[in-house]
Amino acid sequence: MVVTNAEFPPFEFKAVDGSFQGIDIEIMQHICKANGQELVIEDISFDSIIPAINSGKADCGIAGMAITEDRKQNVDFTIPYYDASLVIVVTTGSAIQGAGDLKGKRIGVQLGTTGDVFVSEIKGVEMNRFNKGAEAILALTRNKVDAVVIDNNPAQAFVAKNADKLVVLEEPLTQESYAIAVKKGNRELLRQLNEQLQRMKKDGTLAAILEKYEP
Ligand code: GLN
Repeated sequence: MVVTNAEFPPFEFKAVDGSFQGIDIEIMQHICKANGQELVIEDISFDSIIPAINSGKADCGIAGMAITEDRKQNVDFTIPYYDASLVIVVTTGSAIQGAGDLKGKRIGVQLGTTGDVFVSEIKGVEMNRFNKGAEAILALTRNKVDAVVIDNNPAQAFVAKNADKLVVLEEPLTQESYAIAVKKGNRELLRQLNEQLQRMKKDGTLAAILEKYEP
């Protein structure tokens, strides 16, 4: 069983018909097909993904999750399949033009994400943690927060829906690599996943999936 948090377009989201879609979902579909396995996805909160893997409830987690030193204490990661960065989203005409302007401001992030970690390290910021990235964006449109720090691709996807009100600042705040998380020491699964990711990188499958969801 695979856990995700289907609130992170274009990596994972729920389509109108209730099905799970996105880059990560398609990656897992390809991997399972190649291994002759059935793909069962469960949608849980982002901060429950690592606990679900640790407890053995889930075999692996894919959720646009960045490899971090902290997370590596609790799970093992596959090879990276995507390079991402954090960005700042603001309302059009905002005085916030970069990371240096975040101090003293109300900043929205998604709980337990690298955005949460990044902003938590800035002194004098008023943290506003939301369960979903979309909720942080909604708070921004309602002037309840001054900026949102979130991954670049979801930022583009959310802003596209509010193009008259919001902008993504170009300056990337971090570099991160997304990978699939498995239980610590589950070498066999890690090997299978890495083998398939390698293949998908080599034969162009991964590039084709990414292109399909290009903003
Ligand atoms: N890439 C970010 C992280 O790893 C956010 C992931 C997400 O919200 N699904 O924390």
